[in-house]
Amino acid sequence: MLDRLKQLEQATAGLEPSPRQRAEITAQAVDYADGFLNRLPQMNTFVADSGFSIMLEEPFSDEPGSFTELLAILETGITAEGINPASGGHMGYIPGGGIYPSALGDYLADVTNCYSGVSFASPGGVRIEQLLVRWMNGLVGYPEEAGGDLTSGGSVANLTAIIAARETKGVRARDIENSCVYMTVDAHHCLDKSLRAAGLAECRLRRVPMDDRFRMDATALERLIIEDKNSGLRPWLIIASAGTTDTGAVDPLGAISRLAEVHDLWLHVDAAYGGFFLLCEEGRQVLHDLDKAHSIVLDPHKGMFLPYGSGAVLVRNVEWLAKSQSYQADYMQDARKDDGHYSPADLSLELTRPFRGLRFWLPLKLFGVAPFRAALSEKICLARYFYTELDKLPGWELGPYPELSVVTYRFVPAHGDADDFNQRLVAAVQADGRVFISSTLIDGSFYLRLAVLHFRTHLAQVDYLLALLQRLVSEIG
Ligand SMILES: *Cc1c(COP(=O)(O)O)cnc(C)c1O
Repeated sequence: MLDRLKQLEQATAGLEPSPRQRAEITAQAVDYADGFLNRLPQMNTFVADSGFSIMLEEPFSDEPGSFTELLAILETGITAEGINPASGGHMGYIPGGGIYPSALGDYLADVTNCYSGVSFASPGGVRIEQLLVRWMNGLVGYPEEAGGDLTSGGSVANLTAIIAARETKGVRARDIENSCVYMTVDAHHCLDKSLRAAGLAECRLRRVPMDDRFRMDATALERLIIEDKNSGLRPWLIIASAGTTDTGAVDPLGAISRLAEVHDLWLHVDAAYGGFFLLCEEGRQVLHDLDKAHSIVLDPHKGMFLPYGSGAVLVRNVEWLAKSQSYQADYMQDARKDDGHYSPADLSLELTRPFRGLRFWLPLKLFGVAPFRAALSEKICLARYFYTELDKLPGWELGPYPELSVVTYRFVPAHGDADDFNQRLVAAVQADGRVFISSTLIDGSFYLRLAVLHFRTHLAQVDYLLALLQRLVSEIG
């Protein structure tokens, strides 16, 4: 047995590079990252799939590989094609970010493999995550007793909130068919998924009409709630948006929250895209009454420019989240510590999780909040600039003036089908590749979308897009 153990120990040596090997591969990785960031301004934002990534299909073997070759594969097989999410030319969907110190935060979190799920395992790691949640709670105007959790993204954050709503409102299987949920068609599709995942797919889903700016119509909402109550049904949940993905619309949360209170419904606000605009003056003029919501979702990998992998769920009373996620596991008994504070694992669907706090805390501490405020103001101003400039040109039809940083627009050709024309336009922008935009359907018509949220998007990229659109319109026309 002892011989076998010695042999096996030797065979595991490959898992722990020597200090010299470590320094070597780390330097190569840093070189790669530096090269990528230095070349970024010259790189395209979109490159169509050439089929090259097929080489990644090579199966794993028992033999070790070469780090240099693996980095080369990363360059040619992974980062060279598709959408370049690190590029400031990314103005499609909702762009993410990728601020550099977050990468260092992930690096250090992973090397130390700090476990921030329970306070006993990492008092400091848990404290950082609690601090971030308190900071976000302050931003939305929540009181002391509020709580929340850092998640992998907005989808899981929304699911967590819906489960908290279900448990707090005591919606049980036998009630579901008579329970009504209210949201507009522009609520993010992950909320449909959340309802399904939370066992609420059989609820009666009421699609609340929107006004001409794609905001939930509070009068229509009230009418629906009263109708449902009069029919003996049980209205229990309103899902509103503070910045829809499609058009950037902010639902009238003041009026909606009054209805939620009068009729005793849970109000959930999906602010995954829009919430962090509260950090800047232009955003505060648009975002009101978030503090009236029972739960809110924010996406730091959008509005705080973090790399993908950071969402957040906030609840006005931490007990709602704690009760909906409470668990008992005998093997965890040493880790429970009753100091009056909940650890992240008490408030989360996850037990073992990455130390997400570090990638968020490090840039906030290192840069301070000021450049984030400035960048968020800049995004709103860029969207408004784009709107105003496009409006000066003939043939363009624009959606609502942007309250946040999404603009919907399309070109209406003198003859021919507008939908077809705009589909060709978006394909031509993507083929050009310098910048990336996406499209959506509004009342069944094909519209282009501009979504400015990348911290590297500045005037130059928006001007490039404006010039490109004009050139392409005359080429296609
Ligand atoms: C992005 C987004 C989501 C989904 O969040 P993920 O982080 O992509 O999971 C939900 N709601 C809105 C409004 C969003 O913009």
